Amino acid sequence: MCIFCEIVAGNIPGKKVYEDDEVLAILDISQTTKGHTLVMPKKHYENFLEMPADEFGRLMEKVQHVAKKAVKNLEANGCNVLINTNAVAGQSVMHTHVHIIPRYDENDTIRVEFKENKFDLDEILKKINQD
Ligand code: AMP
Ligand code: ZN
Repeated sequence: MCIFCEIVAGNIPGKKVYEDDEVLAILDISQTTKGHTLVMPKKHYENFLEMPADEFGRLMEKVQHVAKKAVKNLEANGCNVLINTNAVAGQSVMHTHVHIIPRYDENDTIRVEFKENKFDLDEILKKINQD
């Protein structure tokens, strides 16, 4: 069993923020910012690309629910919502999870930076919608 399946099963403790039949949200142990939360399906999917669309849709409804409560009740000014998918994107636990990272300040201990690239947009458009 993976570490998040162990938490879902109750074999490893987790600080539960939200729970229903399908979804569990826990405080991330790293607390990148105050209230950093992980929302995950109880069923093991390695990443969100493998999830049935309806299950992913319901997961994201819960992400919004938890994020709204966290931002309001922790008095944050916004949040980053992040899904790392595969090792190349920084995924370290191979059980789908959505990070909710409340933001208090532009200098919080997280940095999401989009660096400029020089790709040809038309060439990408031709490829991106292929079957
Ligand atoms: P990622 O890099 O997107 O796979 O994120 C994995 C996250 O899981 C990291 O932010 C870790 O801090 C967090 N994490 C790992 N183990 C635990 C645990 N036992 N309880 C809570 N969070 C955890
Ligand atoms: Zn798992």
